[in-house]
Amino acid sequence: MKKSYGVIGLGRFGGSICKELSKEGMEVLALDSDEDKVNEYKEIASDAVIANSTDELALKELGFRNIDHVIVAIGDNIHASILTTLLLRELGVKRITVKAQNDYHQKILEKIGADEIVHPERDMGRRIAHSIISSNVLDYLELSDEYSVVEIKAGEKMKGKTLADLDIRARFGCNVVAIKHGKDINVSPMADETISYEDVLIIIGADKDISRFEKELV
Ligand code: ATP
Ligand code: ATP
Ligand code: CA
Repeated sequence: MKKSYGVIGLGRFGGSICKELSKEGMEVLALDSDEDKVNEYKEIASDAVIANSTDELALKELGFRNIDHVIVAIGDNIHASILTTLLLRELGVKRITVKAQNDYHQKILEKIGADEIVHPERDMGRRIAHSIISSNVLDYLELSDEYSVVEIKAGEKMKGKTLADLDIRARFGCNVVAIKHGKDINVSPMADETISYEDVLIIIGADKDISRFEKELV
């Protein structure tokens, strides 16, 4: 059986999820209380409905209990976001992802059992900040409060050197998990792997170690 998705709140974030899921051929039920928003998604989603997601009866009648994964993308109205999540949980939706507005919102969502809580603006802000600090940092993914994965463009200091020459693990405690040479990607680079200028290194490690690595080698 194909998985089905529900997207509640068709702002920029929810709308973008809805478009992408639909583009990938997924079955998506889109919901918003705003008629204009819903009309925008009539041709895109499998189904688009006008409803207030804090209305328990409406969620029941729309069959939300049979949807495998619901994304709650209500931004400003934290009260509505929390109540919607609670109702979906009670209806027995298997997986619920919620966009959080702030840390208090996150805490409440954790308590009521949201499976996944996302902070798109905060996370994107952090990623962009890292690429502003160093134009060689192409991407940045936070694994926890202390650990991250970064994608770094090799500069002059790494050119022609091997991982052993640079002694990355021993000096910085970070691991190079992959090296991209143009279209090729080596997903388990050995110590004798030579880095060319502008290769892209994917590095995993503690933030403080990655930061030392960036200062000394990037
Ligand atoms: P963006 O993703 O554009 O940043 P946002 O985070 O600012 O959006 P809002 O504009 O507050 O989020 O809400 C997103 C959408 O959720 C809006 O289209 C709004 O109409 C819808 N929405 C808000 N409350 C409800 C509700 N109770 N039921 C259904 N839809 C709702
Ligand atoms: P280690 O004890 O750190 O595993 P090793 O003695 O087994 O190293 P090699 O595997 O030959 O030695 O690697 C030599 C050095 O090259 C390592 O100590 C490490 O600093 C660096 N190195 C090798 N592979 C990587 C990698 N994937 N990421 C980061 N550093 C690496
Ligand atoms: Ca917003």
